[in-house]
Amino acid sequence: MINFQKARDRMVETQLIRRGISDSRVLEAMRKVPRHQFVEEALQEQAYSDYPLPIGEKQTISQPYIVALMTETLHLRGDEKILEIGTGSGYQAAILAELAGRVFSIERYPGLAFRANQILQKLGYRNVIIRVADGSLGWPDEAPFDGILATAGTPKIPQPLEDQLVVGGRLIIPVGDRLSQELVQVERAPDGIRKTNLGGVRFVDLVGKWGWEE
Ligand code: SAH
Repeated sequence: MINFQKARDRMVETQLIRRGISDSRVLEAMRKVPRHQFVEEALQEQAYSDYPLPIGEKQTISQPYIVALMTETLHLRGDEKILEIGTGSGYQAAILAELAGRVFSIERYPGLAFRANQILQKLGYRNVIIRVADGSLGWPDEAPFDGILATAGTPKIPQPLEDQLVVGGRLIIPVGDRLSQELVQVERAPDGIRKTNLGGVRFVDLVGKWGWEE
């Protein structure tokens, strides 16, 4: 029997703290959320390893470090309204749900959305709402958001996502070609948009009106 809590503690120590993740609330959430429950049983013993894992539909749950990095970049304090594009397994949504007020998450595959919702309900996350739709359009009915995380890569930043940020809010999104992207932080300041490059990443495609064609 694997001691998953020990595996999580080790993951936080060796993959996150050692690489510079320092927000104590983010580290606490990563120690708490049972990542292994978001992957199929055969992969559970690899759930705390330093790499992404398949979740079906040719999609992946991101490497723990990337989840921590993107989350830390949002500087969450506890009462924010957050939009996630690409629910996938639901793991990133659970981390956000630990740290923000409400999480709205969009997934294009109904099967993934269904499973993610099941596990999030089972774990008791009542502040996550999942919807099946094209997330490149954002979630206009619930906008604006304090923070938006896109967990799929796109050739250009979808305009609707920029437009659905509050002033002072930020969007974190992988931008580039299909094989590699730059993680970009888009801040909506009172005097306009500011973009910062956070480094190279590799995500699956954001498929939709403002992303890649199917
Ligand atoms: N955040 C996820 C990682 C999922 S991988 C997790 O924690 O497991 C990216 C996900 O984005 C995939 O599930 C993919 O189906 C989804 N996706 C791609 N394009 C999308 C779009 N336009 N709208 C919503 N979801 C999309």
